[in-house]
Amino acid sequence: MMVFTKKMIEIRNILQKVGQSSSLTLPSIVVIGSQSSGKSSVLEAIVGHEFLPKGTNMVTRRPIELTLVNTPESKAEYGEFPDLGLRKLTDFTSIQRTLTELNMAVPDSECVSDDPIHLTIYSPNVPDLSLIDLPGYIQVVGHNQPLELKQKISELCDKYIQAPNVILAISAADVDLANSTALRASRRVDPRGERTIGVVTKMDLVDATRGAAILQDKQYPLRLGYVGVVSRAPQSLGVGLFKKTSGDGSALMNLIAKNEESFFGAHPLEFGQTADVSVGTTVLRKKLMHVLEQTMSASLQGTTDAIRQELEEATYEFKVQYNDRPLSAESYLAESLDAFKHSFKQYAEGFGRPQMHALLKRELDQRVLDLLAQRYWNKPITDLTPVVPDPDALSELPKAAPDSLYWHRQLDASTSQLTKLGIGRLATNVVATSIQAGIDKLISQSNFVNHPFARQAIQEAASTILNDRFYSTSDQVENCIKPYKFEIELEGREWDAGREHAASTLKQELVACQDAMKRLESSVGGRRRLNEVVTFVDKARRGDVIVEGDGRSGAGGFSAALLQLGREGAFLRDRADIINMRLLAAKSKQCRSADNKYYCPEVFLDAVATKLAGTAVLFLNVELLSEFYYNFPRELDQRLGRHLTEDEIERFAKEDPKIKRHLDVIRRKDLLELVLEKMESLRQLEGREKSRRTGG
Ligand code: GDP
Repeated sequence: MMVFTKKMIEIRNILQKVGQSSSLTLPSIVVIGSQSSGKSSVLEAIVGHEFLPKGTNMVTRRPIELTLVNTPESKAEYGEFPDLGLRKLTDFTSIQRTLTELNMAVPDSECVSDDPIHLTIYSPNVPDLSLIDLPGYIQVVGHNQPLELKQKISELCDKYIQAPNVILAISAADVDLANSTALRASRRVDPRGERTIGVVTKMDLVDATRGAAILQDKQYPLRLGYVGVVSRAPQSLGVGLFKKTSGDGSALMNLIAKNEESFFGAHPLEFGQTADVSVGTTVLRKKLMHVLEQTMSASLQGTTDAIRQELEEATYEFKVQYNDRPLSAESYLAESLDAFKHSFKQYAEGFGRPQMHALLKRELDQRVLDLLAQRYWNKPITDLTPVVPDPDALSELPKAAPDSLYWHRQLDASTSQLTKLGIGRLATNVVATSIQAGIDKLISQSNFVNHPFARQAIQEAASTILNDRFYSTSDQVENCIKPYKFEIELEGREWDAGREHAASTLKQELVACQDAMKRLESSVGGRRRLNEVVTFVDKARRGDVIVEGDGRSGAGGFSAALLQLGREGAFLRDRADIINMRLLAAKSKQCRSADNKYYCPEVFLDAVATKLAGTAVLFLNVELLSEFYYNFPRELDQRLGRHLTEDEIERFAKEDPKIKRHLDVIRRKDLLELVLEKMESLRQLEGREKSRRTGG
């Protein structure tokens, strides 16, 4: 029947993954006792290794759910922390260190936590057991410890000592059993003493007669009885030997067994065959196995029923909420990635040379406008100081003769400024930014929008390729527009297109200017009010009224804020005038032909910008866009495809709460089905065993 407990423990561990419903837990042995009662020593004697945290400062702060797995076919002894995903720890000092760290992670201010540590120990020397070690009961609260600590420990223990768990109540022989906190706690939940095993430690500290009397206790009778132990390795053999045994668990076990044999053997009357008492760690170990098996067996039927019911509920939820639709983290990722790639393909079909051209041209138009404004039309109004009339100013312009050297220089300088603007970088940047924004938009419309990890992976995939191509693309583009830095020839139709386009750009500017004016009017409180302020600003600038300083603290009965708005108004009005005039110029007869280019900088620069954009786009297409379209899907596969581990995929999928719920239901259902199957075969095994026993 050894197999039975092993299998039940396996099932117990699977059930733990299913969830927290208490009807779904299989029994375990819960170890309770006061601090220093010898609790750790008993557990270590059972395992054959020193592995529990030691120290005076409340070293057990979390429940340790300890699974012992008997491995008769292998010599190796090792531990595993399934929640930490660590490798096998063959060195028990490492296990001890890890346990200490995990316990100490609970801050001093809380002192105990009910979040259990899971530890599994594999060894040919241990029995199949499932034990839970809890923080020791304390008598007095130490300084630096919260006052309610006693209460907290007690509540934590109470949670675990509920049925169907078996209670292993540890008391020391040198303390009156009536004062045993462990026994008192057990009586509260198990008043008839049906599922409590009493362990009396430190039997060597009391004389044999008294020791035997304790074990026959009539005051707290326990159906499962008491076992007396001396679970500490004898001092005379020294700590050194104790350490040396840490390689092999059987050595420590033998040592303790020998020690107990010689101690109890020395008092045959009290502890011998005829005396009605149980003593020794070996006896305790066997008793634990037996009791656990019995308890597990007893709860087999009840737990099977509970699991069946849970399974029915999970199946129902799966049907109603999810239409029985199967889903796995892998399939979810694969489908999401496919859909994303599909949407990317559509994006790529809609973003090519014409779109890049439009983007770039729009950007250059802005630059041309700025440039022209700076060189031809600049007239800032920053304060109220009277202005000295400027020879370049508006009133002078109509006299500008197309053959004047001054205007030649102006246009040549503007053209050179435009071609040397760093078009290579500018163009690459505009396109790269637009692609990145396009990808962001695709993400926002995809499954990935709820997955920070994938979102980042995709954004990085895009930026990696774009960054990789950035410098070589900029250089290429810059190189091929180089000839335009020396000479630009325009064909008739290029000029015509420039003329048309310049006019429409100016119109847009005009509309923007008028809109800004309207907003200004309404913020001042109407057109009339604005006019009043603007008129004052004009007078001040002409020197018709005298204003102290620059009028920053208000003047002419207007507040400083209002004057500022007035200045903006004057600026917008002048700007609109200028744009209107530029518009007229661009549309004028003179500008019908490229011969008059010096008279028509708007048209000329627009046509140049179109030429630059056209050339740049040819190379952007080859160097950047095609490369991106080729590499991006591959980069996506790299980052979100086969290279991800199962855990990563699982974590990814669960970032979306909806998907998480869906996956959880399926997982729960699968686990419950698995458990139920195992339970059924165990029941059959048990049935066969019974009939074999009764038959034979
Ligand atoms: P815990 O605080 O309940 O885990 O108790 P420990 O197992 O750490 O033991 C407390 C002290 O009692 C330690 O100094 C042990 O060496 C000692 N001790 C444990 N078991 C025995 C025993 O059977 N006999 C004697 N004499 N001392 C023991």
